[in-house]
Amino acid sequence: MWPFVMRRKQLSVLTLGDPRLRLAAQPVENIDDRLQQLINNLLWTAEKANGVGIAAPQVGESLQLFIVASYPNLRYPHAPRMQPTPMINPRIMAHSDEQVIGWEGCLSVPDQRGQVDRWREIEVEYRDLHGHLKRQVFTDFVARIFQHELDHLQGTVFVDHVDDPVTLLTDAEYFAQLDSMPVIAGPSEQA
Ligand SMILES: [Zn+2]
Repeated sequence: MWPFVMRRKQLSVLTLGDPRLRLAAQPVENIDDRLQQLINNLLWTAEKANGVGIAAPQVGESLQLFIVASYPNLRYPHAPRMQPTPMINPRIMAHSDEQVIGWEGCLSVPDQRGQVDRWREIEVEYRDLHGHLKRQVFTDFVARIFQHELDHLQGTVFVDHVDDPVTLLTDAEYFAQLDSMPVIAGPSEQA
C-alpha cells in the first residue's frame, strides 16, 4: 500500500455501445500518484463486481492498464487464486499454436456469455506497480483473462470474437445449462 492512497472508490463501468470502449488506449508514461489511485479504484471495482479482471478503458480511462484477478470458479475449480495483479503496458511476446474455446463474460456486457477462441498459453510482458518489467507465462484461465483484458486496450470486446451468435446466452441461461455444458467450454467469470 502507498501511504498517499487513502481512498478507494468503486467506479462505474462503461457498457457496450459507449464509444470509449472502442478506443485504442495510450501507453502509460508515468507511474505516479494519479495512476496509483486509479489502480486502487480498479482493484476495488473488480472486487465489488466479482470480476476476475478489469481494464482501465472500462472505466473511461484510455490507458494501457488492467487488473488480472483469477480465482477458482464454477467452470474452473482449479484456477489459481492469485493476488489481484495490476499490469501496465502489457504485451503478448509469444503464444502457443493451440487455441481453446471457452466461455467469457464481461462487466461491460451485462448478462451475456459467449464462446471465444483464445491461445492456450502465452508469454507476456508488463510493468508492475513499481515500474519493474515482468515476463511471465500464463496458461488456460489466466491466459484467457489476459487476452480478454488486452482486447479492451485495443477497443475490442469479447462479443467481437463470438463466431456464432447462436452461442450467446444470458447469465440465467448460462447457469441453468452449466451442468450439461461440455467440459471443454471453459470458465466464464466476468472480466
Ligand atoms: Zn471485459
